[in-house]
Amino acid sequence: CKIDYRPAPDLLKHRVILVTGAGDGIGRCAALSYARAGATVILLGRTLEKLERVYDEIEAAGGPQPAIFPMNIEGATLDDFDDMARRLNKEFGRLDGVLHNAGLLGEIMRFEEYEPELWDQVMQVNVNGPIWMTQSLLPLLEHSEDASLIFTSSSVGRRGRAQWGAYSVSKFATEGFMEVLADEFKEQVNLRINTLNPGATRTDMRAGAYPEEDPLTLRTPEQIMPTYLWLMGPDSRGVSGQKIDAQPPKG
Ligand code: NDP
Repeated sequence: CKIDYRPAPDLLKHRVILVTGAGDGIGRCAALSYARAGATVILLGRTLEKLERVYDEIEAAGGPQPAIFPMNIEGATLDDFDDMARRLNKEFGRLDGVLHNAGLLGEIMRFEEYEPELWDQVMQVNVNGPIWMTQSLLPLLEHSEDASLIFTSSSVGRRGRAQWGAYSVSKFATEGFMEVLADEFKEQVNLRINTLNPGATRTDMRAGAYPEEDPLTLRTPEQIMPTYLWLMGPDSRGVSGQKIDAQPPKG
């Protein structure tokens, strides 16, 4: 956890970074923070208007011109991911970072009640989509001198909890995939691969999971950005195969 990290103002200058789920919540905040730190950000998400609002905010703040990539990860095919990689290659020639942040909670319910369709949907958005997107994007990441590939995890991806069903399993799978890939790339010093657990954060997803909770007791996405910046930028060079927390443990 690097909650006290103080990034240099131009930490991500000249870097091209893809953020998924960039229209809302933590992803939106990360996109804005990365742009503020000088990155050219590619905003991927399923709701175009939200992406356009983030785009406008970045432009208004004088950040490098971002790009918008509308995509619903749920319905995306291997061809869509390859096409995406081709277009990004044509426009930028490389990627210096990917934050896989888009995620779906599904339902908080006992497994006995869980619908297989919803289970598959959560697995597609949280694991299978990001995995195959990564396969298409790896050549672009390998073109970078210093790339950071980040998968978003959760505390229920490290210890299962009743009623967290597909979401929990999807985050366990994410942790496992990260370890496999990081091990395959361990000799390649220009690409680090890690998971990042934001911890309880004030977003719509958190409110959906804990409707009784007072959101004001939670950290905002803005408050957890130091770790997001550290892991994306050059100061975490050499860190790979790690499960990183964005917040200190409770208690
Ligand atoms: P939000 O629900 O606030 O935002 C999720 C983002 O993902 C939205 O922009 C959403 O788009 C996008 N998204 C969802 N489904 C798809 C899809 N099929 N295709 C493309 N984009 C999609 O969630 P958070 O910001 O809270 O969560 C961000 C990440 O952090 C997730 O991976 C989550 O699992 C993880 N996390 C969050 C915690 C928290 O306390 N908030 C704790 C632990 C982990 P749209 O806006 O269009 O719906």
